[in-house]
Amino acid sequence: MGKKIIKCSQCEMEFETGFDYRMHWESHLDEYYKQIRDKESET
Ligand SMILES: [Zn+2]
Repeated sequence: MGKKIIKCSQCEMEFETGFDYRMHWESHLDEYYKQIRDKESET
């Protein structure tokens, strides 16, 4: 009881610690930066 759950705003996965959440978030960041890079290389 009373566990703090951190919910990912990108995919709604839930984590008990900030560390787990941060590790998970890096996978979203990778995709985010990849999209930016793809857009920049188009022009
Ligand atoms: Zn996520």
